[in-house]
Amino acid sequence: MKEVDNKNQFFRKQLLDWNAEHNHRDMPWKGEKDPYKIWLSEIILQQTRVEQGLAYYNRFIKTFPTVHHLAKAPDNTVFKLWEGLGYYTRCKNLIASAKYISVELKGKFPDKYEDILALKGIGPYTAAAIGSFAFNLPHAVVDGNVFRVLARYFGIETATDTTEGKKLFTNLANELLDKKTPGIYNQALMDFGAVICKPQQPLCHECPLQKTCTAYQHDLINVLPVKEKTIIKKPRWLYYFIVEHNGNVYVRKRTGKDVWQNLYEFFLVENEKELSLKEIEKLTVLKKAIGKIQFELIDISKIYKQVLSHQIIYGQFIKVKILSELEIDGFEIVGKKKLKTLPFPKLINSYLEE
Ligand code: SF4
Repeated sequence: MKEVDNKNQFFRKQLLDWNAEHNHRDMPWKGEKDPYKIWLSEIILQQTRVEQGLAYYNRFIKTFPTVHHLAKAPDNTVFKLWEGLGYYTRCKNLIASAKYISVELKGKFPDKYEDILALKGIGPYTAAAIGSFAFNLPHAVVDGNVFRVLARYFGIETATDTTEGKKLFTNLANELLDKKTPGIYNQALMDFGAVICKPQQPLCHECPLQKTCTAYQHDLINVLPVKEKTIIKKPRWLYYFIVEHNGNVYVRKRTGKDVWQNLYEFFLVENEKELSLKEIEKLTVLKKAIGKIQFELIDISKIYKQVLSHQIIYGQFIKVKILSELEIDGFEIVGKKKLKTLPFPKLINSYLEE
């Protein structure tokens, strides 16, 4: 038991010393005490790399300096600003929580762990991060960086993506947490994982934990942390018809449970496998949808690709001009100016930008 305590104490002390003397990782939200800004940064960074998230964070803070600004903004404006970040449920939850904090809580961000956790889109990791950074609450953050550092240093072979693994790592992280300065400790551990104990080629030669690190001592760096499941990405084939009339095009908002909820799209046909050019040119489905109206095929784009966490989406855009206006259920017809203000998935934006 004493040996375990000693190892834990050593870990904590080395980490905090490294943070005080060598941690030069600078980010605009570091040291931030405003829970609104911390919350924004954490939601943006949930499934996004720091380098990409940074510009979004700055734009959000500039456009919505307070939770009231965010709560009052039209949903489409927020989605437009979010465009490109993916995982749009995050944005939907962000809007819902902003409205709740602004209206129900009169703008006062909750300051208890359970109340923070109860906000939409906030899990234990984000609640611990906001709680410890803004209110010094003693809750350890457990993210990918933390899993990696702890798995390697303590030589834990339990898979991080299992219920057992999550419990084990969370308990250990909370035991290790420096209760006096939880915010500083949490940030230090995440920085250490990002800068020193990196996923690939960790900087073991600079690491203050090297002498007692199990993975280093037993050549397990490339083995730890262990994950049980490898995600198989399912391919999908989307064919978008850009139906144009007098310079305007038909668009609709995506609803339902599929990806890209609340974003806009063109007339869509999904196929189980790739269609040949000949099959696309037949435009059978489009003909069914628009009936006898005459149209002209203008262009068929190259294939665009977007990789999501569980699927690979291939998309092709088929531009057609119809000679008289028609009504397609659920669609609105918009001009170029309005088109630019609507939020689209990255796949469609890549095509529009070209
Ligand atoms: Fe990570 Fe290497 Fe340090 Fe071990 S010695 S904690 S593997 S950086």
